[in-house]
Amino acid sequence: MKVLVINSGSSSIKYQLLDTDTESVMVNGLVERIGEDMGDLKNKAHPDTDGEVVTKLEQPIPDHSTGMRLAIDLITDPEKGVIADKSEIDAIGHRVVHGGEGFSQPTIIDDEVIAIIEACVPLAPLHNAASLDGIRVSMELFPDAPQVVVFDTAFHQTIPAHAFMYALPYELYENDRIRRYGFHGTSHKFVAGEMASILGKPLEELNVVTVHLGNGGSITAIKNGKSVDTSMGLTPLEGLVMGTRSGDVDPAVHAFLARNKNMSIEEIDTMLNKQSGLKGLCGMNDMRDIHDAIEKGDERAKIALDVQTYRNKKYIGAYMAVLGCVDAIVFTAGIGENDDIVRRESLSGLECLGVKIDEKINAQRAKEPLKISTIDSAVAVWVIPTNEELAIARETREVLSK
Ligand code: ADP
Repeated sequence: MKVLVINSGSSSIKYQLLDTDTESVMVNGLVERIGEDMGDLKNKAHPDTDGEVVTKLEQPIPDHSTGMRLAIDLITDPEKGVIADKSEIDAIGHRVVHGGEGFSQPTIIDDEVIAIIEACVPLAPLHNAASLDGIRVSMELFPDAPQVVVFDTAFHQTIPAHAFMYALPYELYENDRIRRYGFHGTSHKFVAGEMASILGKPLEELNVVTVHLGNGGSITAIKNGKSVDTSMGLTPLEGLVMGTRSGDVDPAVHAFLARNKNMSIEEIDTMLNKQSGLKGLCGMNDMRDIHDAIEKGDERAKIALDVQTYRNKKYIGAYMAVLGCVDAIVFTAGIGENDDIVRRESLSGLECLGVKIDEKINAQRAKEPLKISTIDSAVAVWVIPTNEELAIARETREVLSK
């Protein structure tokens, strides 16, 4: 099957065309700066092979529809493309951030599904509105291909009430569905599945703490293959210290800022989401820049690293307690896959809990799964590259084959 995976953001569209039989990527592309004076499109046909063809466009891209049409033109271009006609695409898989409590599985799109995604817009205003744009455009462009939605929240729908409830007046849950949902579910599920096959254990018997550290970050406790707790909450703001997001703060910070700094709710929200986290602490949100700055003696960069890795450790320790028995801790995403210092610091001092990493192996770079714990570590520690597009393509195929 050829599955087009679409991840539609407010001003961008990431897309990948995958052949699910060989699990190979046929095209990988990114449309950016939609709606700005000048837009960008980068399309890679046969990426990561000797035959890679890269095409870049710079032109105004007023809306998602124009962006998607430009991408399809390139995918089907006789010279730069990979297929002759868009009808060769068998199905479309959409990444949608928030499915609320409505979805625990990938789902074929119909009017009811669209209505539920719309109903979840208040829970993830930017993300879900952008996903709907992508879905509408795709339904127009591919009227005959089945469209499947894969929700970031779906994998976490197994979290029990004692972990997803906030201790707020109960009506806020009953009437407004205010609770912890969790995100990055596709990635946590994917790496847990990879871990199970590497260890030769059925997923249903695997207990694992998955640590997804990218620009956004979250940690999940997975018991017998199911998510039982996760660090993100009602929105992707809760939990870890991220690139620009604060993660956990005392909820009284909002009232303090409103009363004493005269800040509006909008300003506080923007500050916590866009001006906090690593960026707030040291002015940089890319871990590579932070390491360079630390080398040069930048003390705030060191504090940012310490605050981030300490928070990671607290969640890892908490989730080891939640699981009781832990088969493995798995690091993934941009920082998790590439940053040995963050991995080392996030696990330092956990030796008595059975977590020992081999510093030499940890310092290696690998595109393949890598075990970084010592032979005598009671808990295995792995680095496993995530692949959300492949996960969405697989799930799309699975739903359609049922
Ligand atoms: P997202 O999908 O959330 O945008 P990614 O998973 O691609 O994020 O991760 C992006 C982040 O990964 C960057 O902001 C950077 O901090 C970090 N990163 C990428 N490569 C490296 C590296 N080699 N060393 C350290 N950090 C890295």
